[in-house]
Amino acid sequence: MKVGVLGLQGDFREHLQVLKRLDVEARDVRTTKDLAEVNALILPGGESTTMVHLMAQDGLDQAIKERHRKGMPLYGTCAGMILLAQEIVDSKLRGLGLIDIAVSRNAYGRQVDSFEADLQIKNIGAFHAVFIRAPKIIRRSSSVEALAEHEGAPVLARQGHVLVSSFHPELTNDTRIHEYFLSMVD
Ligand code: GLN
Repeated sequence: MKVGVLGLQGDFREHLQVLKRLDVEARDVRTTKDLAEVNALILPGGESTTMVHLMAQDGLDQAIKERHRKGMPLYGTCAGMILLAQEIVDSKLRGLGLIDIAVSRNAYGRQVDSFEADLQIKNIGAFHAVFIRAPKIIRRSSSVEALAEHEGAPVLARQGHVLVSSFHPELTNDTRIHEYFLSMVD
């Protein structure tokens, strides 16, 4: 198994470090050729606007959609979650539309740049989560499972082989969410 991390922009190095710590073969993915080498893909936090733009340049966006159709597991954190969402409500930005949620990029408030919260995650338990300019899930279809909530909104959610979180598990020492994602990979 080889796990890719979209490496166009953002905190992809932190995800690669977590995977290394878990002894998983991993690489950054910048091109369609890189994507062909991996069995799963993590989309990191960063700037969703920039990433959407860069992904379109060599057709990496279409290639990710194609791999999703063939069952490749995907995990998006923060900006990565925005990229995977069906709908981005307060923006002209068009993502990949691979999980049936609507996200708001500013719903937690522009003033609140970052915050931390203690979550209860289904099958994982207590988890200390770091949110940085976090997008909020404001709608989800019934086929999207909320694995954790914060103040009534899902912050970790899964639909089939797509996992998303509003927060950044790669910025803490707790590797359990990455391990959960790896359990979704054959
Ligand atoms: N708000 C950022 C965006 O819209 C995401 C922030 C993050 O990934 N930490 O892209």
